[in-house]
Amino acid sequence: MVMTPAWRKDYESWGAKASAEHRVYRPSSISDLRACLPSANNLSMLPFGNGRSYGDLPLNPGGALIDCRDLDRLIAFDPATGDLTCEAGVTLAEIMAVMSRPARDGSAWMLPVTPGTRFVTVGGCIANDVHGKNHHSTGTFGRHVKSLTLMRGDGEFVTCSPTDNSDLFAATVGGLGLTGVIVRATLSLQRALGSALEIEHETFDEIAGFLRLSSDASAWDYTAAWIDCAAPRRLIGRGIFSRGRHVAGSSAAPPPRDVSLSIPVTPPASLVTQASVRAFNALYARKLGPRGRRREVGSYRAFLYPLDAIGHWNRLYGPAGFRQFQCVVPQGSEDVIEIILREISASGQGSMLAVLKVFGDLPSPGLLSFPMPGLTLALDFPNRGAPTLALLSRLEQRVVRAGGRIYPAKDSCMTPATFAAGYPAASIFRRWIDPRMSSAFARRVGLVTNSEARP
Ligand SMILES: Cc1cc2nc3c(=O)[nH]c(=O)nc-3n(C[C@H](O)[C@H](O)[C@H](O)COP(=O)(O)OP(=O)(O)OC[C@H]3O[C@@H](n4cnc5c(N)ncnc54)[C@H](O)[C@@H]3O)c2cc1C
Repeated sequence: MVMTPAWRKDYESWGAKASAEHRVYRPSSISDLRACLPSANNLSMLPFGNGRSYGDLPLNPGGALIDCRDLDRLIAFDPATGDLTCEAGVTLAEIMAVMSRPARDGSAWMLPVTPGTRFVTVGGCIANDVHGKNHHSTGTFGRHVKSLTLMRGDGEFVTCSPTDNSDLFAATVGGLGLTGVIVRATLSLQRALGSALEIEHETFDEIAGFLRLSSDASAWDYTAAWIDCAAPRRLIGRGIFSRGRHVAGSSAAPPPRDVSLSIPVTPPASLVTQASVRAFNALYARKLGPRGRRREVGSYRAFLYPLDAIGHWNRLYGPAGFRQFQCVVPQGSEDVIEIILREISASGQGSMLAVLKVFGDLPSPGLLSFPMPGLTLALDFPNRGAPTLALLSRLEQRVVRAGGRIYPAKDSCMTPATFAAGYPAASIFRRWIDPRMSSAFARRVGLVTNSEARP
């Protein structure tokens, strides 16, 4: 590792295309990591995972980034308990490639929680306390972290868990990289009957239908729905509900660590237009045919990571990129989701893959964890500048009025007031922010004040 690296402009997050200058450190050992501290000297610092957060969360313009991707060793696995210890830069793809190989009886070790892409690091998953399609049964990623080791900005290494240094643990899980650099963690993997899934898809015509299907799905490991956000007014609320569960006696090959098909360059203009979104959504709504139902046994890879099939799919949005929006509103505010969908449909700005899911009531361990019991909606918007920001601001107001919150991993524009309303534990969290850490997101929402941010 070069100890005083040059400034670089090529670090970006998944959605927004704004390039920012960083001094980037890429340690591959603990001693490299320690050496970053005196070298970064007067700069604020931020750990960087694999840049799969959509907005400004993994960026720290004008400061240092500690790119953790070379801290990528699997350290120990205990087959009696399923406990896996690894460095924080290991990706979920790497864990699955090794651990999900079927045993002789067909059973397989699975990650207890995985987001919709496997190209994320363990550190990034802890720092956003990510959730998956099985939130109703397993809660968030942080619930399955037995312990973690953190390097604080003064060079001290602290190990914490739900029982030791538990306050620091609660601040670091969902702590957005602001409590220090997670160096390693021990995760509890889960033994599944098999790595293949029995999958069912079923159409619904309104949000009430989606809720009925969700509450009938308690015997299923994974649930989520695609929702047609380009539907004409009278069809708003229609979608396809999908549920999946591990089945015995069949297994799926572990997913590769990388993708084979990729969008090689960013096209000069977005390929995601109003017309293509409408056409895609109309076609997708009919994909199950007149019976409106389909059953299959398939790979967990296609079900859990549909977007991973195409590398750099974010380039389809062209040089202006796109903005993601994910909110959660408390149980009983289904009407708000309907209003939000109407607003999106009327704006003509929605995307192809809008996802609706019920969050269960298993408590999240982090002070700033996003999930709460209720309904979560996620979708992208091609970045058209002011009209897109105006729409996002209207949606944000709806969420705040309903007592909900917006997901930092997906956000690029929520106001400090919206953040404060959604995350009341932020006042406690602030005590644990490491004075050397900062990020564009933390400065924007007022977690770190401008005077604290360096340079
Ligand atoms: C296609 C797609 C689907 C997704 N689906 C979901 C989903 O279903 N559920 C969900 O919850 N999220 C989802 N996400 C978001 C993604 O899971 C999170 O943004 C995740 O945190 C990204 O991990 P990363 O390793 O890329 O971290 P980055 O995006 O690089 O960083 C994320 C945060 O983690 C911090 N961080 C990274 N490494 C460390 C470390 N070693 N120590 C301390 N802090 C660290 C960074 O400072 C930053 O604050 C999805 C993203 C994509 C692109």
